[in-house]
Amino acid sequence: MSGGQPNPRRALRADLLDFTGDPGLGAPGLGAVRHRPDHWLLIEHGRIVGVLPGAQLPGPDWLCEDQRGRLLIPGLIDTHVHSVQLDVIASYGSELLDWLERYTFPAETRHADAAHARAQAEAFTDALLAHGTTAAVVFPSVHAVSVDALFDAARRRGMRLVTGKVLMDRHAPDGLRDDVSQAEVQCEALIARWHGIDRLAYAVTPRFAATSTPEQLAMAGALLQRHAGLTMQTHVAENRAEVAWIAKLFPQARSYLDVYHRHGLLNERAVLAHGIWLDDADRALLADSGAQIAHSPSSNLFLGSGLFDWQAMADAEAAVSLASDVGGGTSLSMLRTMADAYRVQALRGVRLSAFKALHTATLGAAQALHLDHEIGRLEPGCMADVTVWDWAAGPVARGRDALARDLHERLFAWMMLGDERNLVTTLVAGRTQYKRRNDDYGASETTDGSNQRRAAAA
Ligand SMILES: [Zn+2]
Repeated sequence: MSGGQPNPRRALRADLLDFTGDPGLGAPGLGAVRHRPDHWLLIEHGRIVGVLPGAQLPGPDWLCEDQRGRLLIPGLIDTHVHSVQLDVIASYGSELLDWLERYTFPAETRHADAAHARAQAEAFTDALLAHGTTAAVVFPSVHAVSVDALFDAARRRGMRLVTGKVLMDRHAPDGLRDDVSQAEVQCEALIARWHGIDRLAYAVTPRFAATSTPEQLAMAGALLQRHAGLTMQTHVAENRAEVAWIAKLFPQARSYLDVYHRHGLLNERAVLAHGIWLDDADRALLADSGAQIAHSPSSNLFLGSGLFDWQAMADAEAAVSLASDVGGGTSLSMLRTMADAYRVQALRGVRLSAFKALHTATLGAAQALHLDHEIGRLEPGCMADVTVWDWAAGPVARGRDALARDLHERLFAWMMLGDERNLVTTLVAGRTQYKRRNDDYGASETTDGSNQRRAAAA
């Protein structure tokens, strides 16, 4: 769906929550938490312009939406998700390499068809918005048409989206392999067509070291050299069988991560999914290069890949963001992703606070992507990518919410018990791009599809 013409001045009243810094791993402290219960968030021409206490009405020329009693946070950021894998979500019974062969590669092959690619890109971007995700770093397929379809769908929704053609010139079936020169020509054309257009950015996207020849990895590194500001996305050290295979394919490399380093692929705009089977030297290399690990707990639990060592990453001062990794992950919901991250850390003896989890999915990811001037905060000047949530949905969660004694307890219950059913509305650049049906807050429909009422009536 997409909204109509936005009102240039729009105000939302709710409990505003965002972060001014990193709350850190460990006991929940309020130091970096900015909680403004019952406030108006003021939006003008798609950007946040200020905040007012709830009792202070914005004025007659503001279109006001009273969401009192609800939670308003920045749009969530998913730093690793596959738009072409919605069809294989929840596929039974395998580990990574077998799962790719049995389920994923056949599904991706279908994206050579432009009509299929377009339909899936529409469904995928709508699904992100319906889960409260307003910005994402995305793997499409090896086919240029899948990249065009995804950029086009995101652009029409006004989203911040980073993606690029998947590079695979070996160890993949017919219909999913490119070659070095063909891939380079396609990447150059896609970069020229999309990079820097509106809120879109291009990512050089080798799937993982096993499916690209050294020549193709070198070509990917050269693309990054040639074009400043490109992102690099790939997978690293997800599963032990995969790590052993990479060691055989690249015997000269010190580690799996070092394969990427040797080909010029690690920099401050590199996003590497998983990073479970790393050592201290790898983590130091990540910190030095500024590359981030997109931690994908739902996928790691589902495929049985392993338990990510977040504490070691924090000790090394290496960046961590959070990712659904659908279709290895089983939900696009970043709430479920945060809850799974809590479970993974619990199995390692570490307690992930709700503050740290939500920070990682908002401001932390924005900073790791060098986009915190635009997203991840409720700060004047940032784009108005915001989401409004019920603190609780259903009688059990509502009962738990009513008993919460402080903000962290309340947010933690929201994170552990909530999902996309808690989501009321999603705004992208100040426009309503998702609104829950049959919502019960009693406002009237307006032309842009949002629920709105005048401040005078609020
Ligand atoms: Zn992945």
